[in-house]
Amino acid sequence: MSAPRVLVTGGAGFLGSHLCERFLAEGYEVLCVDNLITGALENVEHLFSDARFHFEERDVTEYLHVPGDLDALLHFASPASPIDYLELPIQTLKVGSLGTHKVLGLARAKGARFLLASTSECYGDPLVHPQSESYWGNVNPVGPRGVYDEAKRFAEAMTMAYHRFHGVRTRIVRIFNTYGPRMRLRDGRALPAFMAQALAGEPLTVFGDGSQTRSFCYVEDLVEGIFRLLASEEALPVNIGNPQEMTILEFARAVIACTDSSSEIVFTDLPVDDPKVRQPDITKARALLDWEPEVDLETGLARTMAYFSARLAADSGGEHGA
Ligand code: UDP
Repeated sequence: MSAPRVLVTGGAGFLGSHLCERFLAEGYEVLCVDNLITGALENVEHLFSDARFHFEERDVTEYLHVPGDLDALLHFASPASPIDYLELPIQTLKVGSLGTHKVLGLARAKGARFLLASTSECYGDPLVHPQSESYWGNVNPVGPRGVYDEAKRFAEAMTMAYHRFHGVRTRIVRIFNTYGPRMRLRDGRALPAFMAQALAGEPLTVFGDGSQTRSFCYVEDLVEGIFRLLASEEALPVNIGNPQEMTILEFARAVIACTDSSSEIVFTDLPVDDPKVRQPDITKARALLDWEPEVDLETGLARTMAYFSARLAADSGGEHGA
């Protein structure tokens, strides 16, 4: 019997590359598609030696043809950091809307399972805490983050329509803040920013007074949750994230402690529409997938630091992957 085949859009990105790796380890043939506007070939270059790994540079908002069978299709292509979608607002909207439509059409044609990478951004600046899947959110459609939030909300609606109308076996994961190796150093998100600053002995830039909260999940835990969700029969969204909530100031201090840095913390302006709180309610994932995160913050930060130190040394101050 031939190996099952999976297509991962955004496969050269932070999460996509970890998924490609996981599916290869599970015996799949992996088709990785990425237009490399925010992804980087460095993230998957170690997979090229595996004959079951195939890469194609392609924009999934265009017509998508893939020869042969497909068992599963994971749609992870999208700019995903606030800086990226401020710079790429139209591409962000297109990949969430047109891209999701194309990829769902492909899943339908192949009879493949489909999994959408959705986001806690669907909850916007939440008025319910922690956020469970039944909360509809508080999103500003016309603010700077709207291009991402609304694209993902549209993508969820489109995915459910393909499920209900065409009977496609779809899954939706709502991903909360995730961190780990292969995040881009200069993507503007809290973890890479703090890590790069701490390692360089520069001040850590905490936005606002740092009292806003986030809940950070290590990438390996996220990938495990996604793998289990794909195998499940649940079409409605499932939160995957680590419920350990902390303020951004506490998070900055944890990065300083992990890197043993003498950096100070400076406070700068809070970006527009920055959510004040965020914590996943993972009751559903626990019950349905028997899943919960296992990697604690200290362990996850240490592994991430090893990656960033090596990257910084290799780049010796140059730009990586931007
Ligand atoms: N943040 C910060 N300093 C930075 C980058 C981000 O204080 O250099 C804050 C940001 O305002 C937000 C939190 O850290 O409150 C998480 O930001 P990130 O961009 O990582 O993710 P998101 O806002 O999408 O949760």
